[in-house]
Amino acid sequence: MTEFKRKPVTDIGIDKTLESIDEDRIKKAIDRVLKGEASARLKTFVTTCARCGMCSASCHHYLSHNNDPTYAPAAKVKQTIWDMLKKDGKVSKDDIKKYARIVFSECNLCRRCVQFCPFGIDIAYLIGLVRRICCLIGAVPQYIQDQVLSHMQTTNMLWFRQDEWLDTVQWLEDELRAEIKNARIPLGKKNAEILYLAHGLEAKYMTGLLTNMAKIMIVAGVNWTMPDCDGWDYTNKSFYAQDTETMGMVVRRHYEVAFKLNVKRIVMGECGHAFRTGVYEGARLLGWKEEPIPYIHGVQ
Ligand code: SF4
Ligand code: SF4
Repeated sequence: MTEFKRKPVTDIGIDKTLESIDEDRIKKAIDRVLKGEASARLKTFVTTCARCGMCSASCHHYLSHNNDPTYAPAAKVKQTIWDMLKKDGKVSKDDIKKYARIVFSECNLCRRCVQFCPFGIDIAYLIGLVRRICCLIGAVPQYIQDQVLSHMQTTNMLWFRQDEWLDTVQWLEDELRAEIKNARIPLGKKNAEILYLAHGLEAKYMTGLLTNMAKIMIVAGVNWTMPDCDGWDYTNKSFYAQDTETMGMVVRRHYEVAFKLNVKRIVMGECGHAFRTGVYEGARLLGWKEEPIPYIHGVQ
């Protein structure tokens, strides 16, 4: 593998944390994840990878960096997890800075490479473990961490208060009535067919998308509603930080609202990671093999 060379990058979320922690805390976080939280997949994947490189050309980071081998999926694991295992968790702050750079900016956990590996090695799972270690240390890019903190406080990603949500929907309903007479955007209605959850951005910056969805529901004659409380935003940025506690809390809230309103299904708009957390990762984290009521994508 050629040398790992990158331009220096500063991120207050990572750099400030690393100023204030010691290497003992880093080791504890690594041990907790690699010896405790990780499943048998860790050992299987680490010992099975033949370094054949068949997955390399499937990764957009590798391709968009002129086939630089340090961006290949297996190389990113070698420079992070394998390095931690080799050093038995006794890694430096500079190592953590390098790992954080790789796992937060050179792999977006898309899992494309797993489709090309003859052994089915899930590189994204391994990279996710490194993100989890960074999360436990507190070395997470500031932009992501800010959104995770917002999820913790409000369940949505943009620090939107519950009253702001209600005001926004009422305002959109008023606007919609200029186009569709007596249009309603129902909130907190019980026994509806569909509970529609919105993207955080739809409530704050891209409200036209929410209005468009309302038009579709009205014209299609669907019995629908949206939450009249926190839990209306289907995004889950905790997934990016691998803050599994917050991720589970957000997904639980979606299902709790659905149970409370006794709807038949949850429908969400466009967002790949949110679909993954709502239907797969988050639901399993909460102990369900499958989502307890159907949670489907708007396109479906
Ligand atoms: S999961 Fe990561 S390494 Fe694999 S293809 Fe996607 S971005 Fe590349
Ligand atoms: S992850 Fe699979 S395809 Fe990629 S280098 Fe390892 S064995 Fe080869």
